[in-house]
Amino acid sequence: MRNVSVAIDGPAAAGKSTVAKLVAEIKGYTYIDTGAMYRAFTLYCLEKGVDCQDHDKCIALIPEVNIELKPGHIVLLNGRDVSKEIRQTNVSGNVSYIASYKEIRLFLVDQQRKMAESCSVIMDGRDIGTYVLPNADVKIYQIASVKTRAIRRYEENIQKGIPCTYEEIEEDVKKRDYIDSHRDFAPLRQAEDAIPLDTSFMSIEEVVNAIIEIIDMKLKERENKNA
Ligand code: C5P
Repeated sequence: MRNVSVAIDGPAAAGKSTVAKLVAEIKGYTYIDTGAMYRAFTLYCLEKGVDCQDHDKCIALIPEVNIELKPGHIVLLNGRDVSKEIRQTNVSGNVSYIASYKEIRLFLVDQQRKMAESCSVIMDGRDIGTYVLPNADVKIYQIASVKTRAIRRYEENIQKGIPCTYEEIEEDVKKRDYIDSHRDFAPLRQAEDAIPLDTSFMSIEEVVNAIIEIIDMKLKERENKNA
């Protein structure tokens, strides 16, 4: 059977990665966290003391950066495990600047597409259905109110021991949504053929079940078309 590709896009902290990981486990797909790649690049700039709003200086670092996603949701930056560091608030506060640079996007999108070629994937991000995998079998646009998203992310950070305040998180979510949806190249937006899923009043389990139902329905449609 041919590989399956599932694209989940949506604004910051909409719970995409939480549910994508669970769906990947249940369906036996590989989960690809594209946001982690932009975060790892941002961490590298910060460690080098480069201002993330300085386009020229940031893109000059591309040849020095090697990002790998390993099983168990491990993110390697030049061979070093940075899975925890990339969630810190200084990375979250700068990542949308890095993600707005076309050169960095092309560098990372190339790797994302290669990863999707070799196996069945569920990939989450901002531009997966519109740009990275425009022919994905299933496209979902996952949303939730700003308040719901900020509360969820705040609680997640506290649980993981990442220091933050609720106000900081709400501000960060709003700022990232604005920059992500207003950039020139591959901005955050719903693909025309994506199914919208508002998770504001849904539990994680309900969202996972809804996504699996959508996947099964879309794959059945694909089978019937090919029959
Ligand atoms: O998904 P996550 O919130 O970890 O992503 C961090 C940031 O990376 C986003 O706010 C966005 O700026 C950028 N991003 C992106 N395109 C993707 C995935 C993430 O621009 N496909």
